Amino acid sequence: MQENNASSRSTAAVIDDVAQIMKIRARGERPMAFVHSYGCQQNVADGEKIKGFLEEMGFGFTQEQEEADFILFNTCAVREHAEDRVFGNVGALKNIKRRHPSVVIALCGCMMEQEHVAERIRKSYPYVSLVFGTHVIHRFPELLLETLTGGRRVFSRGDESEDKVIREGLPIHRDGSVKAWVTVMYGCNNFCSYCIVPYVRGRERSRSPEAIEEEFASLVRAGYRDITLLGQNVNSYGKTLETPVSFSELLRRLDRIPGDYRIRFMTSHPKDATRELIDTIAQGTHISHHLHLPFQSGNDRVLREMNRRYDRAKYLELIRYAKEKISDLSLTSDVIVGFPGETYEEFLDTVSLIREVEFTSLFTFIYSPRRGTKAAAMDDPVPAEEKTRWFQELCAVQEEIAARRCQSAVGTVQRVLVEEEGKREGLLSGRTDGNVIVDFPGPASLIGRFADVRVTAARNWILTGELVSPA
Ligand code: SF4
Repeated sequence: MQENNASSRSTAAVIDDVAQIMKIRARGERPMAFVHSYGCQQNVADGEKIKGFLEEMGFGFTQEQEEADFILFNTCAVREHAEDRVFGNVGALKNIKRRHPSVVIALCGCMMEQEHVAERIRKSYPYVSLVFGTHVIHRFPELLLETLTGGRRVFSRGDESEDKVIREGLPIHRDGSVKAWVTVMYGCNNFCSYCIVPYVRGRERSRSPEAIEEEFASLVRAGYRDITLLGQNVNSYGKTLETPVSFSELLRRLDRIPGDYRIRFMTSHPKDATRELIDTIAQGTHISHHLHLPFQSGNDRVLREMNRRYDRAKYLELIRYAKEKISDLSLTSDVIVGFPGETYEEFLDTVSLIREVEFTSLFTFIYSPRRGTKAAAMDDPVPAEEKTRWFQELCAVQEEIAARRCQSAVGTVQRVLVEEEGKREGLLSGRTDGNVIVDFPGPASLIGRFADVRVTAARNWILTGELVSPA
């Protein structure tokens, strides 16, 4: 079910009311907002929508909590240490609230969809006055107005009906001018046994291809050069539409939009990644030759316990096909070390898979239990120190592979999208099609453009090079 912003007039009136109130409460000439998003790119994209609303309310943005009139943490529930960090950072806001009683402190995002978290905020953090979940972002203006005028703290998580609706037309304040994110679907139906996402982001629902095309084309027209399509399980896009459209078909439609840009997408699930997808990447004009395909474990028993619904052979077969079709393919992945019940021998299957595939880079995590998931109730006899040892062993193997892969790029000419000035003066920093960072000397006028760069050295997963020509 899609819904255009039918109540836009009343939302506009609410935004106007908030703007009037905040103008009076602001400590400076205009109200300032500090917004920080934790976690994945989807969360960052949600944060940009909230910033879009704030901009319409007349807010400016600041990196200094001390000078903000509104502070928002957009939280992540995927890993325990991200949660701990949020609580630590929220605790530190107590002193700011004491010094500036008029500041409004708010929390949103995946963590806030969990009742035990909301309960803890209610009891232990009385200076947090607005808490809302991922399903009610479109109602942010009215929730903020209620907080400012209602004389009480506001907690909102939405209801089941809101789980099924996609709101189009929300304002977006994009943080960059070169890279942008387009959410193509929300939620996940997979229930991997370790993952909290389906509980906090709801079931899969896809945006219409027309709405995505419109947003994508407007970004290309605005000069964005690197556009990432986002979804928790992006290649199951379109299955829930009235007229289903495959993710490959969506990619082909976007690839036909004229312009000078790259399309990336994340995150893919091996069970939904098809040969058709690989062929689409191979034949595309703008589609990046980079595939992030999380395999999580190289052992079939562990994969079954994780409820991943593919096996090692299927994963490797797809990788073989992809390498055959796309010779310069860059592969990255997510891996979990120390899943409950995993043995050292099973862990070694993960190491051997890494050696076989030769990923450009890996995001490796030691298993972290999430309350409410199936895996959190499983026996987990391996001590943390042992898991850390496995983790280090795996990282050492991957470092060796990444260094070798980086070294093999030396001497090649790469098409690099120049993103920003480098850390050292006179250097520019950009990314190859395979998503590897390249630093090279060049004029700042190249920022936001593609350039051909010859790789001259490789060090710690970062390449250095020399400019051949603007591409
Ligand atoms: S596919 Fe699995 S790991 Fe990814 S969001 Fe869905 S449940 Fe979580």
